[in-house]
Amino acid sequence: MENKNLQIILHSRPTAGISELNFALQKSQIPFPQAGEVLLKTLYLSLDPYMRGRMYDTPSYAASVKLGAVMIGETISEVIQSNNANFSVGQLVSSAHGWQQYAISDGNNLVKLPEYAVSPSAYLGVLGLTGLTGYGALIRHGQPKAGETLVVSAANGSVGSIVAQTGRNLGCNVIGITGGQEKCKILETELSIKTLDYKDDNFSENLKKLTPQGIDIFFDNVGGDIAFEALNNMAIHGRFLVCGTISFDRNLPQVKSIDRFPSAFSQVLIKRLKVQGFIFDELVDMKDDYHQQAVTWLQDGKLTFREHIVEGIENAPQAFMSLFKGKNVGKLIIKI
Ligand code: NAP
Repeated sequence: MENKNLQIILHSRPTAGISELNFALQKSQIPFPQAGEVLLKTLYLSLDPYMRGRMYDTPSYAASVKLGAVMIGETISEVIQSNNANFSVGQLVSSAHGWQQYAISDGNNLVKLPEYAVSPSAYLGVLGLTGLTGYGALIRHGQPKAGETLVVSAANGSVGSIVAQTGRNLGCNVIGITGGQEKCKILETELSIKTLDYKDDNFSENLKKLTPQGIDIFFDNVGGDIAFEALNNMAIHGRFLVCGTISFDRNLPQVKSIDRFPSAFSQVLIKRLKVQGFIFDELVDMKDDYHQQAVTWLQDGKLTFREHIVEGIENAPQAFMSLFKGKNVGKLIIKI
């Protein structure tokens, strides 16, 4: 065992947007488990867009990371020392021990990984928070029906690709929005859905052409201009699902697309839309059902997933920043 615990801490709060300089690498002693505790070695760390919001100290639905504290994040770890009868050495667990190589736990909030025939890292993506968010919110709030038109933004991403495949498997006419022709091709080839490139100058016209009867369900991971265009193309009684707003940092001064958004909001009245925001925590009651469905689909080849794996905790800040530039295809994970 190495004798240091490499950790990434929040070094400073962002001022004009997040930067790699907001993070610092720290070496600390590997902690020693007391009675009832286990020592965890992190195998995989999930990097997610929501972490940007936690770097600020503005009020939100969850607490900020304190300055100097280890960055938060979901992890898959192996128990390497155990003084807790519920966990033996070698047990793989999921928890949220953040951007570090080792951590101590008293066993609370550790979840033993089920024994599905998937890589442990899958519990951070397709069988983790993002998979459940995509599937659960689409089913619960979107109530998709065969033949309906479902449009999903950031469709190549971790949440979006699950939404797209769930809709496709249920018989929806799925259109995935992503950035660039190369990413469109990946979606068309691997998921067999229609695509739209939001970086194309004709995005607005192309969206109208592909949705002549309007959009029944818009699952938004992005916000801003993409959400604006979708809102203006909704079908009567459409469902507009707000999952994320990665295109803008809501802690920064407003940008043009956000200023324009309220004017488009009259569409909610005109089209009698249902607009629903949601947070992952509110979908956990669907976890078991989702796992059963996802595992069946995985076995039948009806669900595929990509992981974008970067090696080394020291590379986490740079990898995290790449999420906001669309450099990932699939779930962004650090292999420790
Ligand atoms: P992801 O989609 O795997 O990765 C982010 C993707 O967003 C990028 O690959 C990029 O794809 C796209 N993107 C980044 N900046 C953009 C911009 N300015 N304009 C348009 N697209 C942009 O990430 P994820 O983990 O699945 O998360 C997706 C969204 O869901 C995020 O907004 C996240 O905050 C949200 N989320 C919400 C919950 C919840 O509980 N509500 C849970 C999980 C995630 P392109 O190549 O297509 O540009």
